[in-house]
Amino acid sequence: MSLPRFQHYIDGAFADGAVTFESVDPATGEAWAVMPAADAADVDRAVRAAHRAFLDSDWSRMTATQRGKLLHRLGDLLAEEAPHLAAIETRDTGKIICETRAQIGYVAEYYRYFGGLADKIEGVHLPIDKPDMEVTLRREPIGVVAAIVPWNSQLFLSAVKLGPALAAGCTVVLKASEDGPAPLLEFARLVDRAGFPRGVVNIVTGFGEDCGRALTSHPMVARVAFTGGPATARHVIRNTAENLAHTTLELGGKSPVLVFADADLDSAANAVIAGIFAASGQSCVAGSRLLVERGIRDRLLQILARKAAAIRIGDPQDPATEMGPLATRRQRDRIAEVVGRSLAAGARLVAGGHPRDGVGFYYPPTILDCDSQAVPSVREELFGPVLSVVSFDGEEEAVATANDTEFGLAAGVFTRDLARAHRLVRRIRAGVVWVNTYRAISPMAPFGGYGLSGLGREGGQDSVREYMRTKSVWIRTSDEPIPDPFVMR
Ligand code: NDP
Repeated sequence: MSLPRFQHYIDGAFADGAVTFESVDPATGEAWAVMPAADAADVDRAVRAAHRAFLDSDWSRMTATQRGKLLHRLGDLLAEEAPHLAAIETRDTGKIICETRAQIGYVAEYYRYFGGLADKIEGVHLPIDKPDMEVTLRREPIGVVAAIVPWNSQLFLSAVKLGPALAAGCTVVLKASEDGPAPLLEFARLVDRAGFPRGVVNIVTGFGEDCGRALTSHPMVARVAFTGGPATARHVIRNTAENLAHTTLELGGKSPVLVFADADLDSAANAVIAGIFAASGQSCVAGSRLLVERGIRDRLLQILARKAAAIRIGDPQDPATEMGPLATRRQRDRIAEVVGRSLAAGARLVAGGHPRDGVGFYYPPTILDCDSQAVPSVREELFGPVLSVVSFDGEEEAVATANDTEFGLAAGVFTRDLARAHRLVRRIRAGVVWVNTYRAISPMAPFGGYGLSGLGREGGQDSVREYMRTKSVWIRTSDEPIPDPFVMR
């Protein structure tokens, strides 16, 4: 039986890639679809199409209000098609169906939010310190945007790039990860139906070394919006040395969840479980370090072990499944390797810890009691369902341990003491701090990291400005002739 084939979307047309590869269903380990792999020539075609659309097209002449309406229409189509896209994302990435359905439904709100912002970005009039001059600042779209996303939550991670970029009037070439690209390639059909002029949005997939490098170093690219790991981010920075594109980087995390003795333990435990085991831990904000006040450690570990053991693991397409497989065999093997090194370094197994036998890339919910920041699973981002637990005594040690990481993406604090919560919010180095909750997101709230977790912010009103540049316009208002500068008066 022949496998379904996906195509690139370049210059308003669906096209096969120069090369193809098979995408694997992580629940079975079997190939299920054929994907196109863009090479440098495909990328060049896509960037040139985006450049033409930016300079001279119906898009470049459209009002901001009209752009906003197109974004709203895209949001509506996404909401309508959420069940269909969710089934495809689940098939291609192993993320469970109840998560993909809920997430894609909410991604629609991102397009609506940015659609609403499109005509709210105003210029400025300066009270300039020169007579007979009117000076205004125009906000202009920056140009062609190269957007790159990793395999997890590709529709969501691209919405926080496409939404503000299109609201600003830019055009985009979006690269889906070669792991699980199907949902984004299918999403191109909605872009097409929404009525964006040709070339405004181009969607390709391909391997990082060819397609990613060609895209981020292309001379016609003015802006790069990258989400992925810090190692790849360094390549991206090197690539943008070619075109000097303005770049934002949304990278990894090793986010701490701090639980104090006065917290509501059952509630905190539910948040910890959701924070690390949702999406099988393949989430940049996974709360992968649990820092627990020593006096309640044993009690909290007992609750967590019970809850982790009760998680229903299985077919990601089954709505009753609570945890699916990892996206790739490579990912599962890496997690097994780091857990092995962590146990050798003295970590104690509280739950899970061994890859599941049989088909699919399954790894069970795993809890490691570490009690040392030196254990590999405490320091390295695993991007999988592994919770490392470290105890602390008092607030000072809690803050020091939380900040003892090269990352700084997110953090959670569980306490009933309001004054302490405020103190911790100020002192924890992370782009988002959740108090008595975890993993809440919204298009209205900016998101991004400290340290190796990244550069810049995505989301919120300011993110549209990130896709614009400012032009200063000076207009002399005097009718008096300009005197000859070389005639002395
Ligand atoms: P990678 O950094 O390996 O890949 C990210 C993207 O970059 C992929 O599309 C990849 O393509 C592409 N790429 C690879 N090499 C290059 C290159 N030389 N030039 C340009 N692009 C390239 O990340 P993973 O796929 O491993 O994703 C997991 C990482 O993403 C984790 O660190 C996670 O924390 C982070 N992440 C961060 C988020 C945030 O918002 N801060 C959100 C989600 C994830 P290909 O796949 O084809 O190799």
